[in-house]
Amino acid sequence: MSIQLLDATVAAQIAAGEVVERPASVVKELVENALDAGARRISVEARGGGLRELKVQDDGCGIAAAEVELAFERHATSKLRSAEDLWNITTLGFRGEALPSIASVAQVVCITRAAHEELGTELRIAGGELQARSARGCSPGTSISVRNLFYNIPVRREYLRSEATELSAVSAVVQQYALAYPEVRFTLLLEGRLALQTSGDGDLRAVVIELYGLEVARQLLAVAASYGEGEQAVQVTGLVSPPGLTRGSRGYLHLFVNRRALQPRGAIAAVVEEAYHTMLMKGRHPLAVLDLRVHPLAVDVNVHPTKSEVKFRYAPRVLGVLGRAVREALLSGADVPTWADDDGALQRRFELRQLGAPAPQGPESSAWGVGASAWDREHSRWDAGGSGAVEPAPREPLPPWVMPGAPEPDASERAAPAEAPQPGPALPPLRVVGQVGLTYIVAEAPEGMYLIDQHAAHERITYERLMAQYAQGAVESQGMLLPQAVPLAPAATALLLGNREQLAAWGFAIDAWGDGVLVRATPATLPPEELSRALHELADRLAGRGGSSPLDWREAMLITLACHTSVRAGQPLSLEEMRQLLRQLEQCVSPRTCPHGRPTMILMTPAQLERQFGRRT
Ligand code: ADP
Ligand code: MG
Repeated sequence: MSIQLLDATVAAQIAAGEVVERPASVVKELVENALDAGARRISVEARGGGLRELKVQDDGCGIAAAEVELAFERHATSKLRSAEDLWNITTLGFRGEALPSIASVAQVVCITRAAHEELGTELRIAGGELQARSARGCSPGTSISVRNLFYNIPVRREYLRSEATELSAVSAVVQQYALAYPEVRFTLLLEGRLALQTSGDGDLRAVVIELYGLEVARQLLAVAASYGEGEQAVQVTGLVSPPGLTRGSRGYLHLFVNRRALQPRGAIAAVVEEAYHTMLMKGRHPLAVLDLRVHPLAVDVNVHPTKSEVKFRYAPRVLGVLGRAVREALLSGADVPTWADDDGALQRRFELRQLGAPAPQGPESSAWGVGASAWDREHSRWDAGGSGAVEPAPREPLPPWVMPGAPEPDASERAAPAEAPQPGPALPPLRVVGQVGLTYIVAEAPEGMYLIDQHAAHERITYERLMAQYAQGAVESQGMLLPQAVPLAPAATALLLGNREQLAAWGFAIDAWGDGVLVRATPATLPPEELSRALHELADRLAGRGGSSPLDWREAMLITLACHTSVRAGQPLSLEEMRQLLRQLEQCVSPRTCPHGRPTMILMTPAQLERQFGRRT
């Protein structure tokens, strides 16, 4: 063959091969873009194993209308100007390759609005070709939907693993960034199910709770060290497991350099493990979340197209600081392995008062001496080869306040496929003791006594169920026998009437009426006496945000409906109702916080009780 230049599409597809290997790599690039855009809320959705659709929405700075097409050009970036900049990188992206690569191998819909502009832009690109562009109203931020990935390179699809495996890779990517950015609120929906949600309150340990459960999170030891100045400065922060808490693979080593996720191998992983010198059994690995911060000039991230490897300019120094920091944390934590006492935030959130805890009993034992019980094994859901299956709760009649039509998840839904780590119940089985003040449920679990806020807990349950129904396009609507008039302020009326479609998706049918709206149908779960308050609250939540994004609507709806559907404080509950409530809570993805981010429960450990009663000092 004679030599010819490749046409642009073929060249882009070849380049895409480096960046876009599988659905998870698309998610990685889009989430990095969202983080670079300063987003505080990022939602990721995957359908059809991530091949049918991947969607990443953010509330970041958006793309100016005049630059949207440019963003999809190769080597177009707002993050780098000159060759020198390449040595001083402070963003996750800089190659300007992700968007064009993704758009060359999928059908992409990009909806974006820059904060300072009135209108947003919708761009449709398929196989690298611009299909359509239009101006549209939307709230500031960016939503990128990637459909039918590799539709034009079918052979690529053959290299993919099962849908479950691809989804677990997607989930791993989101988890990494949730750990690296605790101040960002991440939501992950897999096939319409809520798989992860972090609060975005900046507390790393709270993110660990969402991923690995309270029992693991409470045992982790804080790492903090800072050394040197200027270009030579090295800082290490994070959490590491005490020697008694180990895992069968390196998949629990979450390593970041300047908040960029690295593969858990190579020198950094080795140094972390060496710090456990003689403390780890053969074949066991620690669980750790560690972020190394170095001067941008002291690290080269441009070693690999996916940037999952880095080169340090002062490698021995960096590794030395890291090793010492981990070692120090392990030694200082040797006496109080169950709770890092400097973690005030977590303490306030989940404990009545920190009063000390016994030492671990050895490898695999849990803090309270229950040892490697069945309970422990069932709940260490990510262990390699672990049977993710959990005994299904026996079916019992639902109490009246439980959402109608919401099926109890059954065993087949709860058992994770062997190869796909999926979030399992992050709560231990709770035994109900009683109700206090018609507001709190007292319950008992292996690790102590729980006080559960009945309203907050029910809100969490309703929130997750509604989220699932909505994601499947099936929020149940109930027509009203007599349409009900709800008087509202003019602004609220206009907001609701202007968004009838959004409301319809949630089961509301409304019309204009006098000084307010006439409601013909409501979500089936909403008690009629809550209707007026719910609409007022919804309008309040959305007020001032103009043409709020679907993400805003979803959040506002979910929180409002969850609140108004849920059992109130002050409502007496029977023992059976409390059991039902806790059983449903156990099945939640994020059972420990309500949708507003407040705790649903606090724990008092046996050690704390013993101290309070003067049984130990
Ligand atoms: P890079 O991230 O390496 O710059 P990309 O192809 O990923 O390259 O993105 C190209 C450009 O598009 C970015 O530099 C940025 O200006 C813009 N962009 C992409 N995604 C977003 C987003 N979610 N929010 C705001 N701007 C974005
Ligand atoms: Mg990028």
